[in-house]
Amino acid sequence: MDEIAINHTFHSTMRKFDPQYYDIAIVGGGLIGIITALRIADLCEQKDWRMVFIAPKNEQTDNRTTALFMKSIKMIDKLGVWEACHSHSSPLKIIRIIDDRSRLIKTPIIEFNAKEMNQEAFGYNIPNSIFLKALNNQLSLYKKLYKKSFQSIDEPLIGAESTRKSMMLTLKNRNRINARFVIAVDGRRSLLRAVSNIDCHEWQYEQTALTFSFQHELPHNFVSNEFHTKSGPITQVPLPKNHTSHHRSSLVWVTKPDRAYQLKALSHITLSRNLEIALHSILGKVVIEEPIQSYPILGMTVKSFGSNRVALAGEAAHVLPPIGAQGLNLGLRDIDDLTSAIKTTTVGDFLNIKNVIQTYNKARKVDASLTTSCIDILNRSLLNNSLLVQLTRVLTLSLAQESSILRRFLMHYGMGNRC
Ligand SMILES: Cc1cc2nc3c(=O)[nH]c(=O)nc-3n(C[C@H](O)[C@H](O)[C@H](O)COP(=O)(O)OP(=O)(O)OC[C@H]3O[C@@H](n4cnc5c(N)ncnc54)[C@H](O)[C@@H]3O)c2cc1C
Repeated sequence: MDEIAINHTFHSTMRKFDPQYYDIAIVGGGLIGIITALRIADLCEQKDWRMVFIAPKNEQTDNRTTALFMKSIKMIDKLGVWEACHSHSSPLKIIRIIDDRSRLIKTPIIEFNAKEMNQEAFGYNIPNSIFLKALNNQLSLYKKLYKKSFQSIDEPLIGAESTRKSMMLTLKNRNRINARFVIAVDGRRSLLRAVSNIDCHEWQYEQTALTFSFQHELPHNFVSNEFHTKSGPITQVPLPKNHTSHHRSSLVWVTKPDRAYQLKALSHITLSRNLEIALHSILGKVVIEEPIQSYPILGMTVKSFGSNRVALAGEAAHVLPPIGAQGLNLGLRDIDDLTSAIKTTTVGDFLNIKNVIQTYNKARKVDASLTTSCIDILNRSLLNNSLLVQLTRVLTLSLAQESSILRRFLMHYGMGNRC
């Protein structure tokens, strides 16, 4: 018997006799984690694999919204999640970049219109709380449907160790489980990335993002405005009306950490006034909504998307500043590539982990590095005072405004279409 056949027999036997033995473990219950669990659950059921989803409950509410491009919307629609999000989301028809750095050389306003791509909208802006609720509801359905193959555990992972035949995972309650293959979606401080010795490169921007929603006097007309200031972008993204207001948007205000701290400490009336000034009153008077949250801005890339029995996805594999709505869209492309790597390398029901990780890593490297680099350059060009950097930025962005070919290329690329 060859090595593959022996392994296969070993794992089949283990699965039968050890209830704590799984084919696939998914660790981390953020947006990417739940989407991964939904994507992989179908596959596990088809292949008769056992899957465990390790996702401790997160009590903190997330007041952010996520702008998802159409490709990502199609993916969540296939998972049966979009219908519950649709009426709470706003289409994104125009994206406007406004140079607001009060410097000598200024870029003209650049406008990307979905119509230029023959589309109604680039995508939709979804409140994270609605998105998470819809995902969790779907997860509950899947758990009922796939009782035999799908387990979930509400305990954090505190340790992981590679053995010859599996990865041994230790939970906070000291229970131990074994999994042949582990998908690490445990966020930017990934424990699994650390124990797998996967090198990462992390850098700081000395920026903090304040996030909240707000009501405004004038309609947004489905336009997102991104004001590029010398401390970072201030991005308004349209939201649909609700019972309190007809005109609403969400905001990501990226600025220096001490300025963010000062803004957060202001009364709501004063902060609303500051916001109106920052938006140059383009939406008229504004009233901010509770709560206000803050997120430190950093960047991170990994040397490899996996090693041994662990594959990384989402923020466990890449972190970018919130410019151009790239982070989650990039994470969803990870899941797409990981699922197809598993499908294309699986013969019968044999999960060939080495091949999965090799194929997945190859598929993700270019997309993730390019996206991270582009966003990094765009963010740094705001913070950098050098005349050369400013000239290059102005020339590139002016060219984008003038040339419809370049604009279309940028829109195509920004929406995650890679070929
Ligand atoms: C201000 C802001 C605005 C953004 N806007 C957009 C946008 O408009 N569009 C877009 O595409 N992207 C956007 N992003 C990026 C997007 O939010 C992230 O890409 C996304 O949230 C990453 O999801 P994740 O599931 O990978 O990570 P996380 O959300 O961090 O989830 C990781 C999960 O793992 C769990 N975990 C951690 N450690 C363990 C452990 N030891 N055991 C078990 N579980 C563990 C955590 O509890 C958490 O639930 C934005 C980001 C920020 C900061």
